[in-house]
Amino acid sequence: MQYRKLKADKIFDGFGWFDDNSVLVLEPNGTIRGIVHQDEAGEGIEELKGILTPGFINSHCHLELSHLKNSMPTREGLVNFLITVIKNRSAKKEEIVENIVAAEKELFANGVVAVADICNTDHAITIKGKSELYWHNLIEVINLYDENKQKQINHFNLVLEQYKILNTEKLTTTLTPHAPYSISAETFKALNKATANSIISIHNQEGSGENELFKTGKGDFLKLFAALGEAKSPFAITGKSSLQTWLPYFTNGQTILLVHNTYIQEEDIVFAKTYSEASGLKIVYCLCPNANLYIENTLPPIDLLLKHNCKIVIGTDSYASNWQLSIASELKTLSDNFPHIPLQSILQWGTINGAEVLGWSNALGSFKNGKKPGVVLIETNTLNKDLLTGKSRRLI
Ligand SMILES: [Zn+2]
Repeated sequence: MQYRKLKADKIFDGFGWFDDNSVLVLEPNGTIRGIVHQDEAGEGIEELKGILTPGFINSHCHLELSHLKNSMPTREGLVNFLITVIKNRSAKKEEIVENIVAAEKELFANGVVAVADICNTDHAITIKGKSELYWHNLIEVINLYDENKQKQINHFNLVLEQYKILNTEKLTTTLTPHAPYSISAETFKALNKATANSIISIHNQEGSGENELFKTGKGDFLKLFAALGEAKSPFAITGKSSLQTWLPYFTNGQTILLVHNTYIQEEDIVFAKTYSEASGLKIVYCLCPNANLYIENTLPPIDLLLKHNCKIVIGTDSYASNWQLSIASELKTLSDNFPHIPLQSILQWGTINGAEVLGWSNALGSFKNGKKPGVVLIETNTLNKDLLTGKSRRLI
């Protein structure tokens, strides 16, 4: 068998580093055969500049919003952003599909091998059916009013059923809530029943007004409800933060990806830890730093997440709130803004952690022998090899 032998400035195997004397050996079909010293690798070593890593796991994306590329305003805050998305999201189906096709190709080329992807419609089904990537489809329920619960759940169940026809080892599907500010109490209860033991997500504390909405019934989010024709908040005032209001609705062994967490506070992190341990949930923090800079021009309190040993994964969010769909670019933003966090940790978030959380670590996320995780080359600065450029490409 003709093995492929790859050598770069560094190899990151999903867990830690191997030095520049190491060679990654693969079968022609991409199956990992091992990492060996170059003296044992024999002939035919390909020499590359940069960091070799397993394929990236993008733990939060909305493929079907790809047509909103370069059309949303930046740095206007979440509420203004949401109002603009609601107004501008519709487009011709051909245009939507064309952009989904391009986005899927971009993800593949820059090294993403698996995606937790939010779906509101069936627009991406055909493309995902043909895709080489793994997809966890999160059929996202939005429903502000208890009285509309069954109608909305029925509607999203129809989308769910369409996706489920495709279900394989590489393609899984579940319902998921959109956000604390778009789900009524009875809808949360119905979703808790419908998602027992599933991997779900929720946009959590993404905007600065979200806690205020539940603590006082006031704040920035009233502008969003006004745009939807509602004079006041449709939700009960709990006097608690957003997270402490919604998380207790979940009791059924779910793994919950908390996406963004831009305005999470330490007391919420402690609450989530205590509650999830007592109730058998798994809580995972999904960071999408470029989207946070795009919308709110701020970043989540990652040091607090590390202080409390939280499980972290990385997503790109969508083209509505990002300049590209690139995990390498998210990694660069994290490593530039949190230089005290070891690059090894940040790379784990983008590889093995995502694979473990989404249930694909048998196949993806590390260079363990026998896996086919894909191989990505992350570009580094020519003068300082510890600095990322934000670019990457898939080799295998
Ligand atoms: Zn999102």
